[in-house]
Amino acid sequence: MDETHDSKLKSWVDVAEDSDFPIQNIPFGVYSPKGGGDLHVATAIGNYVLDLAYLDEAGCFEGTEVEGTEVFHEPTLNAFMSLGRKAWKDTRKVISNILSENNDTLRDNEELKELALVSMENAEMEFPVDIGDYTDFYSSKEHASNVGTIFRGPENALMPNWLHLPIAYHGRASSVILDGGDIIRPKGQTKAPDAAAPSFGDSKRMDFELEMGLFIGPGNGLGEPISVNDAEEHIFGMALVNDWSARDIQAWEYQPLGPFLAKNLATTISPWIITLEALEPFRCSGPKQEPEPLEYLRNKNDSTFDINLEIHLKTEKMDDYDLISSSNYNYLYWDMNQQVAHHTTTGCNLRTGDMLASGTISGPEKNSRGSMLELTWGWSEPIKLSNGEERIALEDGDTVLLKGWCQGEGYRIGFGSCTGKLLPST
Ligand code: MN
Repeated sequence: MDETHDSKLKSWVDVAEDSDFPIQNIPFGVYSPKGGGDLHVATAIGNYVLDLAYLDEAGCFEGTEVEGTEVFHEPTLNAFMSLGRKAWKDTRKVISNILSENNDTLRDNEELKELALVSMENAEMEFPVDIGDYTDFYSSKEHASNVGTIFRGPENALMPNWLHLPIAYHGRASSVILDGGDIIRPKGQTKAPDAAAPSFGDSKRMDFELEMGLFIGPGNGLGEPISVNDAEEHIFGMALVNDWSARDIQAWEYQPLGPFLAKNLATTISPWIITLEALEPFRCSGPKQEPEPLEYLRNKNDSTFDINLEIHLKTEKMDDYDLISSSNYNYLYWDMNQQVAHHTTTGCNLRTGDMLASGTISGPEKNSRGSMLELTWGWSEPIKLSNGEERIALEDGDTVLLKGWCQGEGYRIGFGSCTGKLLPST
């Protein structure tokens, strides 16, 4: 850790104590000015977006690896992400300096400030990463056990392979959307267990999944696996992910090749990527792995992070959200390094911008379950909301909000918001 992690560090920009974006965070995203203008790479500080392209033009990144690369003028983070850890760290240090209360580079330069420091009200967040491939893991033991118990009974809750490798499927990158994008209720083929034949129509079991996604920085060549202890060199950062799921479609289609149409309707991500560098003070150990994983999956160091996660739900009849579940990223059984190492054991090449989602992150308690399927225990125990409404599955007009943050001393490293509203099928 270095001076950018100091909990006493303060910015000359006003930052509320409960803000997701204090000077210790320095997330990366892409924005455009509301009312029109070019897309630029930016960071967030309090309620402001700080345009890194204008800082670069003003010479703020002289002497760093990003100087002369024009990566902040790109409409996505990919070019910056491909530069690797040294460039990310240099950039973080420059931004941290410029925002520090005693630094006058930007603070006293009215012309540059006018150009580069944009109120979030006047900034349109754009899709931050060109995601080539999206893989969704299934790394929470509690989630896998809950779903297995509901679908197959307690004796067959975990499949025989589950404790030996991080299970995943190759997802669909084209339908990954940004925070705030609407979700259209999908149609599909379903068959109730007691029905004689399948039928086609609206999904009646729409669900969310509380997940986090990691984004690949520098990739690996085809045929060149990434070892578990090198994995973090390839991970740029993380965002919140809601893997919207049509459970009735899933239940009928998933055997033997896994999820397909139940999961490709839409996946929502939050707009800011939080770097591993920002998460460093919150590094911790994960659950004990028993049996011990095979050698290629063994980490030397702690490789997960203490990130509080919450699911909030608002129906059309409600003014405010209800908190319906609280979980933590560090509940995951398989960590990000193991996911990356396992993904590439065959020599499969990860590319800059690829997203690896964690799978639903459920905890040990009833109120830490990460999906409606689990919270209602297979649609049998309705969720009771504060205004008297109940939910078995999502209904049209329901909005789901995911939140995530690491709690520091007097500040928090937040992930911003990840929301989506379910609209009727078309
Ligand atoms: Mn999922």
